[in-house]
Amino acid sequence: MLFKLLKGVKQYKQNQYLKQQELLKKLQQGQHPSTLFITCADSRIVPSLLTHSEPGKLFMTRNVGALVPTDDKSSLSMDAVLEYALKGLRVKQIILCGHSHCGAMHGLQQENLEETLPNTAAWLQAVKSNITNSSVDTNSLEQITRESIKQQFNQLNAHSLVREYIQAGQLAVFAWHYYFETGEVYYYSPEEKQFNLYDPSQEHGLSFDVTLKEGLNYFQQHLYPQQQTLFKNLAHGQKPSVYFVTCSDSRVAPADFLQADPGEVFITRNIGNMVPPWREGQVSGEAAALEFALKQLEIKDIVVCGHSECGAMNGLADLQQIQHLPQVSSWLKQNTPESTTKTASIPELTRQNTLNQIANIKSYPTVQEKIAAKELNVHAWYYDFAQGEVYIYHEQQHAFLDLETSITQALSSTLMSTRIHEFVQKKVTAFVETLLRTQRLDEAKNLVTQLRLTGSVTAIWDYIGEECERELWSEYGELCDNIHDSRFVYLIAEAKKTVLNLDSVQQQLEHKARSPSATGFGLFQITPEVLAAKNECCRCSLM
Ligand SMILES: [Zn+2]
Ligand SMILES: [Zn+2]
Repeated sequence: MLFKLLKGVKQYKQNQYLKQQELLKKLQQGQHPSTLFITCADSRIVPSLLTHSEPGKLFMTRNVGALVPTDDKSSLSMDAVLEYALKGLRVKQIILCGHSHCGAMHGLQQENLEETLPNTAAWLQAVKSNITNSSVDTNSLEQITRESIKQQFNQLNAHSLVREYIQAGQLAVFAWHYYFETGEVYYYSPEEKQFNLYDPSQEHGLSFDVTLKEGLNYFQQHLYPQQQTLFKNLAHGQKPSVYFVTCSDSRVAPADFLQADPGEVFITRNIGNMVPPWREGQVSGEAAALEFALKQLEIKDIVVCGHSECGAMNGLADLQQIQHLPQVSSWLKQNTPESTTKTASIPELTRQNTLNQIANIKSYPTVQEKIAAKELNVHAWYYDFAQGEVYIYHEQQHAFLDLETSITQALSSTLMSTRIHEFVQKKVTAFVETLLRTQRLDEAKNLVTQLRLTGSVTAIWDYIGEECERELWSEYGELCDNIHDSRFVYLIAEAKKTVLNLDSVQQQLEHKARSPSATGFGLFQITPEVLAAKNECCRCSLM
């Protein structure tokens, strides 16, 4: 149910958005990013944090392993990004950013990747061949990663469009090897054919855009030290809960509007937040990312997020208008079904596009299996960056609902009621178990009898209610405005409605009664021990 993301967006609207509002409203007129940033989908890489960039600065594409494919069949996504960034937006620099502990690079060390992750293996095939033919020590993840970064850097420089802009003196290309656990960046020097440590105190003759340089320095001096422990812990692995598919547009800054920490969101970005429909034997970064997210990271929620003022959607509405961007045009056409209503307004077309992409995602056999097993949910979002508002598609209502309505819907859903009832059931069971464990057999018996007679949790609410309310507030409170918010009041009412299943408690009771150590205190009464038992019970966690 993505509560974490909903909480993040709500928090963003109340805080950071208010500070960025003016900038975001100005950006409605158009984007003028200085940089195309190419990096990995890895959740631990947060480019806007690393370069301390505000929305509008970095046009971005992200795929598994930060690859720049050259094979015609798998390069359309990147070709479209390069064309849009260079011809459409005239970015002045490209930064290609590989990173430490990269799961994709680690995949190259695995013998059986073709069997476990065939789409990912196919996507990484070119890098693998290159590494096999080089002198790289394949036991060293660092060497493999650097070899791949070098290879992608060379491929990028050899790309016809990139070469054209470099030769015209309008573009510079840089390659970084970012170590998120230390905050260090090594840059590739093609002249020296080696990676050098970026040291802000030294003049490297590196001609990055000055605001980006300042941003990187700011990250290393201020932001990294604040999150040092988190980054160091993330070196052990990523465990993101969401796979987020969004547009390359520089005004879309997911780390901001989701208020997500490094490690929380696995993310791919391309022109128009698209996923090509499944085709047997195809090789694509998007297919690799889907497979990696579902099979390797075991992600249970995918969000496809379109956005307001999307240039790609403007292009899709009027392909004539983007005749000068043939790769972009092919990319948009390839991923859009004929039935799409091009005459719809741009926001409507953008929303329809997110639903089209969800249909594309659902054409993958792995996705179908996961959905059938109830192990995956796919969501469509529309982000209006100028308003700081997120609209979420509600399947039953066939409509995109704003954040507050989505929160109300989620908190009053049947799924939510089931969750609350399970939570209360656990609390009751834990309370009775604690009574039994502390040899309060009669109290437990008495309580269970009362619970059976009344058929509701009311009889026990005096003991567990306060704690339940506290835990429910800590879990869902951030989604509500205050403790009197009708949505929170509803949750508590729902908790009190729990119909208990006392079978397992009863069995334990009987088992305990037969045990020789059983002792009783006669009538059920609240003694200091019972109160202590109640407090002990409160340690069990929610969900
Ligand atoms: Zn990676
Ligand atoms: Zn867009």
